[in-house]
Amino acid sequence: MITSPESTRGAACGRPENRDLPWIAEDASPLARALMARVCASCPVLASCALEVATTPTTAGFWAGHDRTKWREPVTVQDTLPGLELGAAA
Ligand code: SF4
Repeated sequence: MITSPESTRGAACGRPENRDLPWIAEDASPLARALMARVCASCPVLASCALEVATTPTTAGFWAGHDRTKWREPVTVQDTLPGLELGAAA
């Protein structure tokens, strides 16, 4: 979602029919994300929105077709069985 006033003119996310989508939610549903991506795809200021998100420290929200939320807690992926940790000395 675009934030600077001069670049908000024409933003599709600001249109009445799109305002209620969860643009700043951290837990938007897959359906909501798909709907927002579709809105972004037809947005006349998509390029400037993408530039803005690329040049600002964005950690949350849906911007320029993508969910930018950075999860607070890292997701742990277990890549080995317990007791068989890589690099463990025998
Ligand atoms: S590209 Fe998407 S998030 Fe950016 S201004 Fe347009 S509708 Fe809003």
